[in-house]
Amino acid sequence: MTIILEATGLRVEYGKTVALDDFSLTLAAGDLLGLIGPNGAGKTTSLKAVAGLHPLDAGRVRVLGSNIEPGNVLAQSRIGFAPDTPPIYEELRVAEFLRFIGKAYRLRRDMIEERIDFWLEQLWLLDRREARIKTLSRGMRQRLTVARTLLPDPTLILLDEPASGLDPAGRVQFRKLLGSLRDQGKALIVSSHILADLHEYCTHIGIMEAGTLRQFGTVAQVVGGKQDNRCHYRVTLARSVPDAARLLSEMGGLTRIEVHGRQISFEYEHEAGAAAALLARLLREGLPVASFAPVEHDLEQAYLRTGIRQVD
Ligand code: ATP
Repeated sequence: MTIILEATGLRVEYGKTVALDDFSLTLAAGDLLGLIGPNGAGKTTSLKAVAGLHPLDAGRVRVLGSNIEPGNVLAQSRIGFAPDTPPIYEELRVAEFLRFIGKAYRLRRDMIEERIDFWLEQLWLLDRREARIKTLSRGMRQRLTVARTLLPDPTLILLDEPASGLDPAGRVQFRKLLGSLRDQGKALIVSSHILADLHEYCTHIGIMEAGTLRQFGTVAQVVGGKQDNRCHYRVTLARSVPDAARLLSEMGGLTRIEVHGRQISFEYEHEAGAAAALLARLLREGLPVASFAPVEHDLEQAYLRTGIRQVD
């Protein structure tokens, strides 16, 4: 297992505000960390700190064993950071902009042209190759920022809210792209508020609040859906049943029962036999069950369990 990122005790202060405190984590090749937390939690600051774009008040970042510090250009060139509000050169054409980036990284001319075509295709922007950047939509700009970040072939990829402007088809495509980057042995950190998307493609989740990493682990560890052999269930009824909540609470063994019209959720034993017996019982009690499913990984529930108040 190749360790790509080691961040140890990172601290960033803005005057009296501690934007990041004791931020530590390690990522290996193929790891994809989803970073979540409310506005102002420190997600952007942590990405900038890891990228070496912000002076640290304490701590150390190592990428592939080299310290990230001013002057260590080689180590920094292994990191690709895509900010959520990228500086964009409005008057340049798409390919021109990427060529400029390639030259800044001192890539060979033929390699630059090859990579421009490759990444424009990967980010489905080929038909905009000669368009001026000022004519691009928000989602297209975001994709161009990702292309710009990947062009120099970084090993550690940091994407700040990359999916927020993407349309539904774009998100599916983007997931595939992240999967292929993982397969190539890159390590990635992606900050996002779109929890449903994140749990599908991340290997790890970090939950931030007030500058600290409150939780960090694999998706299964953080979601913890199978803790105590219990998990979250979602049931949809064919029609709403006025006394469903009472019926469920009298069955015994169900906790965190919530009924909203035809939608029901609760926690119960995870084991398949117990689930089958419960479903049979729901039907015997006369509940018109249209669908019944344990939720294996529910990041939203895990997030809400932390007690952190809001993801917008
Ligand atoms: P969001 O979800 O809104 O993008 P975030 O989790 O990325 O938020 P950060 O942008 O890292 O949060 O901000 C962390 C803290 O640092 C906040 O309290 C913010 O107000 C503060 N902060 C960020 N940038 C600056 C700055 N340039 N000067 C002063 N304070 C700042």
